[in-house]
Amino acid sequence: MFDPNRSVLQHIDLPILNKHLVQLFIKRDDLIDPFVSGNKWRKLKYNLEMAQRSGRIGILTFGGPYSNHLVATAAASQEAGLCSVGIVRGGELNAQSNKTLRLCAALGMHLIFVSRKKYALRNERYYWEELLLEHPDHLIIPEGGANYYGIIGCQEILNETPNDFDSVYVAQGTTTTSIGILFSVAQKTSLHVVPVLKGYDSIGEMRALLNYSGIEPSLYEELLEKVLVCDEYHFGGYGKYSVELLDAMEEFFRQTTIPLDPIYTGKALYALMDRIRKGHHDGQRILFIHTGGIQGGESIAQKESRPFF
Ligand SMILES: *Cc1c(COP(=O)(O)O)cnc(C)c1O
Repeated sequence: MFDPNRSVLQHIDLPILNKHLVQLFIKRDDLIDPFVSGNKWRKLKYNLEMAQRSGRIGILTFGGPYSNHLVATAAASQEAGLCSVGIVRGGELNAQSNKTLRLCAALGMHLIFVSRKKYALRNERYYWEELLLEHPDHLIIPEGGANYYGIIGCQEILNETPNDFDSVYVAQGTTTTSIGILFSVAQKTSLHVVPVLKGYDSIGEMRALLNYSGIEPSLYEELLEKVLVCDEYHFGGYGKYSVELLDAMEEFFRQTTIPLDPIYTGKALYALMDRIRKGHHDGQRILFIHTGGIQGGESIAQKESRPFF
């Protein structure tokens, strides 16, 4: 079912790129699976393998009510013959509250709705121990698949390309994907990360996840200097977007037939195009990682027709 061979490397031809002598390629991780949104599969791959190897019966993880990670975990666990438990932020919700949650339930995920106060404990060891008493023999994966196994899964993305780019662009949520990419890019490549949260400390968050994953600072401090943070493309914060962003996504779709989502990939591609237009990448070979984000062919936000901010 989950076949990374579907993630082709697509060359993009647009007048703006010709004007700036940019060669742009898009790594189509969005094509890996309709439910397991691109990078979410990468992050789950070795977590699921470890769960199976260590004889666990299921996966337990955390997410918000529109979480791509929850849907991906439900689908990938079902495929791997494991059960799945999702701890969802929002005690007032239920399995029918929106399409994301309905999809999780339909994919066999046992959903548990908790208050925001309880959800804030999601990274606390004592909460994990409490959860394991209720759900023995489950592997707990942090929100967004943000752990060591998530990172090594994302290290494989660049190996499926010539890995000879001047710049790589990727959207950033938990930073797991960008760390995996950072560990695998060529020496000459700079990594441009586009955080989708407002006021997000990208480098600090990357350091925190690297520490949590038990990786030696001497192994990553130098690498972090290759990271360029494009922090002016959050469009107001997580889940927020403007008509301008939606127009740019639609225009890109018309020109390339590549769908984007307004939460992650739309913002990252907007950042890339804006920076090309401003002359930051003249003459470069660039790779854009399409991390997915489109559940069942439509982005979540489009499905739910959430208001524009
Ligand atoms: C979750 C997600 C991201 C964020 O990836 P991180 O590894 O958490 O930084 C980016 N793009 C899409 C489409 C996602 O669903």
